[in-house]
Amino acid sequence: MKKARQLRLAFRRIGAPSVITLALLVRSDMLAQPDPNWLGHDRARPLPVVVDPGSLSTQDQPGKPPSDAIVLFDGKDLSQWAAMDGSPTKWVARNGAMECVPGSGYVRTLQCFGDCQLHVEWSAPTPARGEGQGRGNSGVFFGLDRYEIQVLDSYGNKTYADGSAASVYNQYPPLVNASRPPGQWQFYDIIWTAPRFDPTGKLVSPARVTVIHNGVLVQNNVELTGPTTWLTRPPYAAHPEKLPISFQDHGNPVRFRNIWVRELGRPAKKEFMLPNTVLDGFSGDYQRDPNDIVRVRRAADGLLSVSFSGATFLMYAGSPTRFFAKTTDVQCEFRFSDAEKFAVLSVGEGGMRAKKIN
Ligand code: MG
Repeated sequence: MKKARQLRLAFRRIGAPSVITLALLVRSDMLAQPDPNWLGHDRARPLPVVVDPGSLSTQDQPGKPPSDAIVLFDGKDLSQWAAMDGSPTKWVARNGAMECVPGSGYVRTLQCFGDCQLHVEWSAPTPARGEGQGRGNSGVFFGLDRYEIQVLDSYGNKTYADGSAASVYNQYPPLVNASRPPGQWQFYDIIWTAPRFDPTGKLVSPARVTVIHNGVLVQNNVELTGPTTWLTRPPYAAHPEKLPISFQDHGNPVRFRNIWVRELGRPAKKEFMLPNTVLDGFSGDYQRDPNDIVRVRRAADGLLSVSFSGATFLMYAGSPTRFFAKTTDVQCEFRFSDAEKFAVLSVGEGGMRAKKIN
């Protein structure tokens, strides 16, 4: 009886789920079971990797990130960040913080992230100005600009619940309001599980998020209904599993410091989102021999599509010049000089040069 009710609730939560979706809901429960390949207390089982956990921050001093974290901002420079189109950001680094310059647009990481643990500290402007959504508003976004954990000066500032600090915007208010006064450093520790889509673009598992605000649990593994937007709750639309993390420019000079991320899940190649201008520069037709053209085109979300021999592959940037596919071991490196521009294309081995002809 209880199971049937849970199932009905699941139906209501996710709309009209396919059999596959329900099967995956069941499967995700199974994944939480201990690995059957190991005995209890198995002496041959590898020990966890040792990580120096670093130290906690104080108001005066940012803490030290864990030894296996990717440091996105250490108080000095914005080398890991760009404007949304990949051009240099107009946000500034000063006094150990990264500060939003109102009107300059969102800022995003160069590297792409899927499932991860993100630590970010932020401070709302002081003295507080404006009210409601107009006071100390920014946001931490996953999936480039799709899914927002709200950043807002919610200290004695009334606004709608699902727009408060640490809300999943327009979906889940925080469990409690753990805000500190403006000007003080606050922190979010966020556990993000990216949504998954099948090759046809169908959702197979939704995004999930856990948020700890100033040490207090405020989002407990909630399931997102889709992108977070003002006024509406649009359904999911397929996108790559890994995408940049971004911070919102909502017109307030919110400051950030001590930003680090730990990638979760299986080890995988690093992925980056390159500037649109670079991707446009790579796009074109490349000739291997008179009757063999390789077509390179810009795809959505910082990807390229490469077509040859009747097949098309979505290509992910592993560096500023190298791309790789995820379905087949297809790699493509662009070698551009003043004299000539060519792509080196390889499938599983070797490499073939193709000259850019337009
Ligand atoms: Mg916001």
